[in-house]
Amino acid sequence: PTAQAPGATGRVLSISHLTKLYPGTTTPAMDDVSFDVSDGEFVSLLGPSGCGKTTTLKTIAGLERPTSGSIRVGDWALSTDDQWTPVHRRPFGMVFQSYALWPHMTVAQNVGYPLKARRVSKGEIRDRVMRALARVQMEDFADRSPTRLSGGQQQRVAIARAIVHEPRILLLDEPLSNLDAGLRRQMRLDLRRLQQELQMTAVYVTHDQVEACALSDRVIVMNAGRIVAEGSPQDVYERPRSEFVASFMGAANFLDGRVERVTDGSGEVELHGAHGTIGRLRATAPGDDVAPDDTCRVLVRPEHVALQVDVEPDAATNGSRDVDGLVGAVESVTFLGEQWEITVDVGGEKLTVHAQQRGLVDVGSLVRITVLPQFVRLLRENRPPAQP
Ligand code: ATP
Repeated sequence: PTAQAPGATGRVLSISHLTKLYPGTTTPAMDDVSFDVSDGEFVSLLGPSGCGKTTTLKTIAGLERPTSGSIRVGDWALSTDDQWTPVHRRPFGMVFQSYALWPHMTVAQNVGYPLKARRVSKGEIRDRVMRALARVQMEDFADRSPTRLSGGQQQRVAIARAIVHEPRILLLDEPLSNLDAGLRRQMRLDLRRLQQELQMTAVYVTHDQVEACALSDRVIVMNAGRIVAEGSPQDVYERPRSEFVASFMGAANFLDGRVERVTDGSGEVELHGAHGTIGRLRATAPGDDVAPDDTCRVLVRPEHVALQVDVEPDAATNGSRDVDGLVGAVESVTFLGEQWEITVDVGGEKLTVHAQQRGLVDVGSLVRITVLPQFVRLLRENRPPAQP
């Protein structure tokens, strides 16, 4: 059964095995993508340029037709092999970068357009437009031309247009990308507040992991058309399952290691540089499926490293016996404004460290490196095959 009444259906957006092969291409832009979004949830599709985020969102919106797969909202089949609901009948509000405001209409006419298309009466349109504009603090601009607004104001109007018909689900594609850093931060908070106040469900496309983390209940990371990770922002950041996901979510160091022991979910790993063992680290949440003797990649985030400067000069040479820590020489110290970036050479491996304070760290000084065991993550090797 394909009931067409949105009000009568359940409220979960279900994406199932969506694939899209654009005409004239040989690799799918979207490859067997499946996920659900629950009522009131804010989900971000995150990934590098070209990974298929926009294709996924456009397909949900009905702007692209999938090669196969289905899209449902509750029990309403919007798109299946033999079912197709056009864009304007779908229960979505949309803020797409490419969906700019119309310059020949006033702000109020722009915002009222989705209501006009739904044949709402004129008087009601004005009321609802003013309410939507008030939601984004733009009610004083109703009769202006959008060409006479700043980028941030235009973006607010675009959001008002997307929510004016009270859609249950908002689809947003990099809506903040044209704004400067300060405004982006403000709009991020506003957008999240609005989504929560109106209890809307949101699917948000971005390549900016900070933005995805700040906004989302859940992030879905894509690469080359496929979903490669999914979870709460904190979970995906702290417990990634691959190097790709780890480095996409933030700054990361990777070292080669061999698992020495795993007990009760806690492990110890011996680290290798180009010339042999360089130290050991303990991991209290080592990772999935790691067993003793496995070789692995050890993820250490720069902000999880602590440096200690009172190191005996001979400590560097017996690092291999040093459980819980590494010893290295400071190669560079750079002030980045919000923090210091320190590069340490540990047996030939370069480790990047972020610190709030420089302390007594100087180029050339010997430092002991410790990492809280809950932040040491062991990743099973799955490196791409070497280039021929
Ligand atoms: P970005 O962040 O740069 O917008 P994205 O993750 O949103 O990237 P998509 O725009 O979905 O990626 O593109 C995914 C792949 O599909 C890319 O390789 C892109 O070149 C290709 N592609 C997108 N649109 C078309 C099209 N109309 N015809 C052919 N190929 C396309």
